[in-house]
Amino acid sequence: MRRIQIEPMPGEPAIAHAGRIAFFLGVSSTQKFDQWLKREWNQSDKSATSSPRLAQLAGVAGMSLVDYARQHSMMGVLRVGARPSEMALHGAPEATNFTKRLGMLTQKKEAFLCPRCVQEDLEHWKFSWFRRTHQLQGVDWCPSHRTPLVKVKGSNPWELLPQHWMEKGEVEGPNLGASDLESNDFVLRFTEIACALLERPRPLHLGRLARLLGDRARELGLRTSQDGVKPNLSDLVLRSAPEGWLICHWPELVDKKPGSFYFGLDNTVSSRTVPSTGFAYATALTALWPTPLQVHQMLTQIDVEDAPTGEKSVKRSIAKDPAFWHGGFWNEYIEQQGRVRAMAPKLGVHPTHLREKFNQLGLPSLHDVGTAPRWRAYLRFEAGESLPAACAAEGVSEAEVLELIRLSCARVANGARQVLKSQASALIEPGRTSAMPAKRNAQKPLSSSESHFCDVEAVEQLSEQAS
Ligand SMILES: [Zn+2]
Repeated sequence: MRRIQIEPMPGEPAIAHAGRIAFFLGVSSTQKFDQWLKREWNQSDKSATSSPRLAQLAGVAGMSLVDYARQHSMMGVLRVGARPSEMALHGAPEATNFTKRLGMLTQKKEAFLCPRCVQEDLEHWKFSWFRRTHQLQGVDWCPSHRTPLVKVKGSNPWELLPQHWMEKGEVEGPNLGASDLESNDFVLRFTEIACALLERPRPLHLGRLARLLGDRARELGLRTSQDGVKPNLSDLVLRSAPEGWLICHWPELVDKKPGSFYFGLDNTVSSRTVPSTGFAYATALTALWPTPLQVHQMLTQIDVEDAPTGEKSVKRSIAKDPAFWHGGFWNEYIEQQGRVRAMAPKLGVHPTHLREKFNQLGLPSLHDVGTAPRWRAYLRFEAGESLPAACAAEGVSEAEVLELIRLSCARVANGARQVLKSQASALIEPGRTSAMPAKRNAQKPLSSSESHFCDVEAVEQLSEQAS
């Protein structure tokens, strides 16, 4: 019997994936869906019966739990800092308790959607799905479109697809006050930082995180103790975040006395043993550093210090430049067409580590870009054709192309086109490239890794230089 597989869409939160499966199967009762999920999941893994819901969904999607957790849970923002003994990868067997407790949660109480994402999804896919980035606390605008997110009013928002709530008119516009908040520098930085935290595969070492946050706070003339005369982090946030945003997201802070210790936020720079909320860390990082890139470099530094012993020497050899994983490998990636074995010695990285890192960053091998029909269908799709049309034109199944879409970060299409170009100029079937569709606007919200640190301008610039 063929198993039913309804794959998660790029950036789709697990809870919405579950809802969409139930919707497509026509199962409206929670109990029946639970039974279906257990039955399906047991076919793919008989090892346990009381596993987290996230593991069951990963199983029916044919993904490893660690990959599914990184791409579809929100644990990256729910567990930003952790004690040294609790730093396993999200979804790893050692972290089962966290996966059970937090795996299906989002950061907001209600479900939010972006009307423009819905519209584009429908044009492109004929159905729409919820996005994790829209469920981030403190993010009120779609990171791709900068349009205000709207709230679903239904009591179980995940049981229908976003387009249905739009059609029924059961959505509510935001109450954001001033209308220019979306272009406010603090709000933009916050959004980028929160989206990047969301992509993290594991929590950060709490002690190191607090130490770096504390050092930075003192450098800015803030105090990191409960009592004292200097202003503290919460005073800085009050000064730098726009009032409309604070009223929505930190209402308790607005009436705070200057200089008073506000535990929910000031704890981030003072405690090395009690983790704060992910929202507090995102707020602190936004207030303390002027650019998301600097935040990224600081977090990379912590990651490098915490690399498992076996990886340390390998990581150290490339850790001199914190921007390395931000795009420093890009030329080599294009030149070697993503072949890990060819790249590893040149980059001075162990092949296993490099493969793992590239999987995390959503960078597949590009060696068969010019010849494999699935890549050609992927590029057609990337250029704006609908998925069914692109697959039909190249004679491949939608599942094969979906796998590439799910795996690839936003810049992979760009890289694939470059490889294709160089292959074409080196000789092969010159006629083929002319059949490739034109490049589409790069701002499509397609990839689950779109907001990943690896993708931002650095990679884009590098890839443009290379072309
Ligand atoms: Zn959008």
